[in-house]
Amino acid sequence: MTDANPNEEALSSLEDLLETAWVLICNAGEGNWESQHRDWQAAAARFRERYQAALKAREARRERERLLKCRQCGRPCFDDYMVRDDVWLQTGLGRLEGVLHLGCLEVRLGRPLRADDLTEAPVNGGIRHGMRMRPRPGLGMED
Ligand SMILES: [Zn+2]
Repeated sequence: MTDANPNEEALSSLEDLLETAWVLICNAGEGNWESQHRDWQAAAARFRERYQAALKAREARRERERLLKCRQCGRPCFDDYMVRDDVWLQTGLGRLEGVLHLGCLEVRLGRPLRADDLTEAPVNGGIRHGMRMRPRPGLGMED
């Protein structure tokens, strides 16, 4: 694993351990669970359910992480805003494809963000307010 995050490494190690346990359980009685004690079969079935749920949760987490990575810089992005569809399409991304930091959006657009790039969505209220209170140099933020 190339990721230096110790939590990710520990998690990956535990996932490997769970997979090994699942393989051992699957192959008990040469793969014939019917030959095992009923209590063992019930415990194995409970393990299978929990293991499958954990795999689904992991995939959902990975998908969320993938969707929340800025398509320009690759870092996690929690910038919340909505630009008009025609503005977004100028970034080269599809309508519902990925996220961009505001600064990275400007990089993709090749120009500063303008107030009229934003939709009237309530989520943009804070950005519009910030544009009025702290105009950034070179940005035409007037409404
Ligand atoms: Zn970015």
